[in-house]
Amino acid sequence: MTSLDLNLLTVESTRLAIIEREITATALAKAFFQKIETEDGAVHAYLALAKERAFSQAEKIDRLADKGDALPPLAGVPIAIKDVLATRGVTTTAGSKILANFVPAYDCTAVSRLEAAGAVILGKTNCDEFAMGSSNENSAWGPVRNPRNLSCVPGGSSGGSAAAVAAGTAVAALGSDTGGSIRQPASLCGVVGLMPTYGRVSRYGLIAFASSLDHIGPLTKTVNDAALLLSIIAGRDPMDATSADVPVPDYPEEIDGPLRGLKLGIPKEYFGEGLNSEVREAVEIAIQKLKEAGCELVPISLPHTQYAIPTYYLIATAEASSNLARYDGVRYGFRASTTGTLAEMYRRTRDEGFGPEVKRRIMLGTYALSAGYYDAYYLKAQKVRTLLARDFEQAFTKVDAILTPTSPTPAFKLGEKADDPLAMYLADIYTVVADLVGIPGISVPCGSSHDGLPIGLQILGRHFEEGTVLRLAHAYEVAK
Ligand code: GLN
Repeated sequence: MTSLDLNLLTVESTRLAIIEREITATALAKAFFQKIETEDGAVHAYLALAKERAFSQAEKIDRLADKGDALPPLAGVPIAIKDVLATRGVTTTAGSKILANFVPAYDCTAVSRLEAAGAVILGKTNCDEFAMGSSNENSAWGPVRNPRNLSCVPGGSSGGSAAAVAAGTAVAALGSDTGGSIRQPASLCGVVGLMPTYGRVSRYGLIAFASSLDHIGPLTKTVNDAALLLSIIAGRDPMDATSADVPVPDYPEEIDGPLRGLKLGIPKEYFGEGLNSEVREAVEIAIQKLKEAGCELVPISLPHTQYAIPTYYLIATAEASSNLARYDGVRYGFRASTTGTLAEMYRRTRDEGFGPEVKRRIMLGTYALSAGYYDAYYLKAQKVRTLLARDFEQAFTKVDAILTPTSPTPAFKLGEKADDPLAMYLADIYTVVADLVGIPGISVPCGSSHDGLPIGLQILGRHFEEGTVLRLAHAYEVAK
């Protein structure tokens, strides 16, 4: 149907192919749906396809092109959306049975901004239930498999988005990151994943997990594509009071800026025990490349790093227990059939609707917030969060960005950690701090293990300095 190789399409090259009329938006959407139908069975990246919506948008783009009108910046670019982002008229389950029949009446701001810029929304991607997980095995609809090796997990919780981009069944995708869920699956699937500064992208229409930690961001094949998508979804939104009123730079232009003289912090705490030797080697080689490109390497210390995981799992579960109180069988989605009392209806709805990991977190969070334990757990965690923020404030007086591995290991096997929640939580050891501190971070592919599994380099920057993070990631991508 098309001579274009769908696997190679980037946001940039798709846009050009549409503008130059090498292919129509409609034919391209058709080709992607066909590819999904033949190839996604093995990966299970998609939960729902948005064909009607996609074709009506594609036809709109094609009509503009027929008239010779200027096309919007993402004209005809096929994009997949993590199922925690509300999409008008398209079932949105957050990977949970409790939202099995939820069809939102409105769009998430990030989604409506993409569509207003001409993007074609292909469908909704599989994810861990309510974005809780690091392997995508917590989806109520079954796991996603890593397209680079089907016996391995794709990472989580945006595993479907990362897998769709890696498998070429979407040109790009949106994900959400609360403790690493954009960067970690990007790393495990060998794609680029960008978590913007907290408040940079509106959370309106994002199904809440932990509101002070939730971020929306792009998963793409190239750094340039991540810059393009961020420039469209970023910026103040009156529908989200925490979205920041900070000017949005022209990211695609910023990525070409000079590197010379940039100081890069290498935190010793991120290269210690538990780091897989192949990951260490690949990340160290990547760091040397940036040095050769003119950056200065500075050894630093982030002394509170060892407290990051317990702090994250207290704050995230506390906020989740409160956010998930709304699923009671009355307001949204699933309701258990019962002839009993109202209290029994609530109880059975939540018992049958939520999966085991979500229940574990609601219990942990409720406990941490309970009157007798609030000071010992939740309040203490908030204090440690401040100490972690100070570690970074201090570091950023000396350096412009910080380089670390994204994940301590390459992709692990399906089932390998499924029965050991603590081992699973450790998969997030290098990613959770950026969420706690609210700074931007990117994962960019930097080689692979002996058996061909991708490895990711993480670059963290100062608040609202996504431009620096993207510039470094782009320079690395070009140099490698
Ligand atoms: N893996 C982490 C968790 O399970 C992070 C999830 C996320 O970023 N949404 O909480």
